[in-house]
Amino acid sequence: EDVIVSVQDLQVEFKTTLGVVRALNGVSFDIPRGKVVGIVGESGCGKSVTARAIMQIIEHPGKITNGSIEFHRQGGDRATSQLLAEDGAGADDAVTASGGVDITRLNPRSAAMRAIRGAEIAMIFQEPMTSLNPVYTVGSQIEEAILLHQTPDKEKARQQAVDMLRQVGMPNPERIAKSYPHQLSGGMRQRAMIAMAMSCHPALLIADEPTTALDVTTEAQILALMRKLKDEIGMSIMFITHSMGVVAQLCDEVIVMYLGQVVERASVDEIFYNPKHPYTRSLLRSIPRIGMAEHTPLEVIKGSIPDPYTQVTGCSFHPRCPDYLGDVCRDTIPAEALLAGPTPHGAKCHLYTDEGRAALAAPATTRG
Ligand code: SF4
Ligand code: MG
Repeated sequence: EDVIVSVQDLQVEFKTTLGVVRALNGVSFDIPRGKVVGIVGESGCGKSVTARAIMQIIEHPGKITNGSIEFHRQGGDRATSQLLAEDGAGADDAVTASGGVDITRLNPRSAAMRAIRGAEIAMIFQEPMTSLNPVYTVGSQIEEAILLHQTPDKEKARQQAVDMLRQVGMPNPERIAKSYPHQLSGGMRQRAMIAMAMSCHPALLIADEPTTALDVTTEAQILALMRKLKDEIGMSIMFITHSMGVVAQLCDEVIVMYLGQVVERASVDEIFYNPKHPYTRSLLRSIPRIGMAEHTPLEVIKGSIPDPYTQVTGCSFHPRCPDYLGDVCRDTIPAEALLAGPTPHGAKCHLYTDEGRAALAAPATTRG
């Protein structure tokens, strides 16, 4: 399979005065080229940190302490050496055995990393003002992205910027292009930011809950637009959300995260029709039914995410798990079990490990 980003055993820690918070604890997954991968889980599970690690924009004092993030440019080995050539000495050890670039080995401020950020991988955030500059018109900001990444021709760039605003469903793109961000509604600003990200023609778009603050109609329009642009430009998308409803509408594959770990990964069909991990099953039970308000918080999962400074032993979900098996869940970290099915499907849970099956045969003990 053609993979654009391969994350292996990624670990990110925040050293604070209160102690060390391990925000990511051995995260591994692939993003296949041209596919939409959904990353789901409650807030605080590490979704945004994963995205920020790929962009090398982790907030201070967070640091990648282990693992790799392999990025495969279109064009293979040659494209990789072209990218690293800009960096001169020191970047050679960033080349991986399979000819990709290990992003974790690049200096965040290096020429190669700056080229990756924006031109190759673009990110859109929940809050559009993170990316929009309040003192420039929306049109000029999109033009700038086009001039930087597509054409040096100013008039062409101006036309393309207007065209991009039309494509994101703006009613009067010529007028919107001349507007400043504060003159637009929240939904329009979000579209402007998406237009700007798309104007870079990224190979991978990372979207961190880009529609959570929007109304349902605007959300549906933006999801449809992303699907359309994905097909037209052939880009890959990593879509972070806490909504399983959004996942159903947009994603090909799903990564389920809990407390800094990937607990289940599978195709979208497997996740919805054959979920294996108790946490995934709990998330699915929390999908609002028709007639209920959208974006209902995931309160149906019993208990809350533990204090980040305490390390949970064994399976990190054990204090909340409805299927708790006993000592094995409290004491032993479950390995990822690969499950039979039409597409690759993994779950980190003792329901599917030999140790867990042995425990199932023995009488359960109380939860610790
Ligand atoms: Fe639940 Fe045990 Fe599976 Fe963890 S390992 S999800 S506690 S059954
Ligand atoms: Mg987040």
